[in-house]
Amino acid sequence: MTITRFAPSPTGYIHVGNLRTALMNYLIARKNGGEFILRIDDTDPVRSKEEYVDGLKEDLTWLGLHWDRVERQSERLDKYHAAADELRKIGRFYEAWETPTELDLKRKKQLNMGKPPVYDRAALNLSEAEKAKLRDERGPGVWRFKLDQERIEWKDGILGDISIDAASVSDPVLIRGDGQILYTLASVVDDTEMGVTNVVRGSDHVTNTATQIQIMQALGGTVPTFAHHSLLTGPQGEALSKRLGVLALRDLRERGVHPFALLSTMARLGSSDPIELRTDMESLIDGFDIERFGSAPTKFDVEDLFPMTGRYLQTLPLEAVASDIAALGVPEDKAALFWQVTRENITTLHDLKGWWQMFSEGAEPVIADEDKEFVAEALALLPEGEFDESTWGTWTAAVKEQTGRKGKGLFMPLRLALTGKPHGPDMGAVLPLLQVVKARG
Ligand code: GLU
Repeated sequence: MTITRFAPSPTGYIHVGNLRTALMNYLIARKNGGEFILRIDDTDPVRSKEEYVDGLKEDLTWLGLHWDRVERQSERLDKYHAAADELRKIGRFYEAWETPTELDLKRKKQLNMGKPPVYDRAALNLSEAEKAKLRDERGPGVWRFKLDQERIEWKDGILGDISIDAASVSDPVLIRGDGQILYTLASVVDDTEMGVTNVVRGSDHVTNTATQIQIMQALGGTVPTFAHHSLLTGPQGEALSKRLGVLALRDLRERGVHPFALLSTMARLGSSDPIELRTDMESLIDGFDIERFGSAPTKFDVEDLFPMTGRYLQTLPLEAVASDIAALGVPEDKAALFWQVTRENITTLHDLKGWWQMFSEGAEPVIADEDKEFVAEALALLPEGEFDESTWGTWTAAVKEQTGRKGKGLFMPLRLALTGKPHGPDMGAVLPLLQVVKARG
């Protein structure tokens, strides 16, 4: 069975970059009738916060990305310690005591000599007496995994054939001096024990993958299929990493972006498939193929989500927005007409407020000097009683008759006087909604 996972660290709110990872893993699981695990990578007790766990669940729920189960790394620490013991037993784990400053110095020296800044494994040559002394002086060291210095190869679902020379990579630290289990070890143990079959994550994880493959093999686990998607950039190709904070899913939600605008975009952006608005999860799942994604950085413009949201809203029947419309104070008997008039003239549901304000309070009239008399004459002809959808037709016919104006010269000054705008919805439908004007008339 296909098993995928989305594994955020709850150290902040999730953003468009995380969504891409989550969605790809979700779509693979659903396409294959598999399982999608939400794994909370919370082994860092200082930076992990419960509010972010709640927040990311809320965001995924809003998007309709339902998970089959939740796993929390903080509840699985004994498994990671057992794996650490196993690595010690098979001679692939060693303790090292260099301080960050010492490591930095080593790196600088290597770089000066034109060598790659790879950990020199000095700790492997320590005698038992030296180790005891260091432990005594500095406390527990970090634990590093001893890589086999050979090439690590895999066929990546997006990047194709990858080959990394393990000798060019430092032996990864899997446990910190204070005993904290680090992500690399926890992730390997989870992926193996949970039977994860496909791992999709950002291309910033490629080197991690190389070391994780060796750790998995050392622990006797089955190596999943990996795919590394490119990272998002801004519309000009600029790095997005610093701006991701403002591209949090909850902020986009606040701004009125609709889930299907986000999902339709993120499920195809960077692939050879066109980005088209989808209005149901099934069609996103059906058309998804990880192999169609490219390795080049992917340009993303948050502004594109707004017209896409507008297009989605146009597809909605009144029932879908009835509560939003009622919340504005639109009377029930006017709701259908209000939606008919506004749906093609909004980008997000927030825009409904402005329209209702205009209808209920009246717009600031725009009347050109040369039209003043004409408009006054026309308004005097507005019929008594309730306006309905035929009012505009009968009224403008009467105005035409009396003033002799026709075409644009007749309609435009009236539209501007009533709505303050030169464009907008069909006036026949607008008129019954213009309650204040009616009261004035
Ligand atoms: N917690 C890791 C991250 O957010 C997960 C990476 C992975 O998918 O293995 O980067």
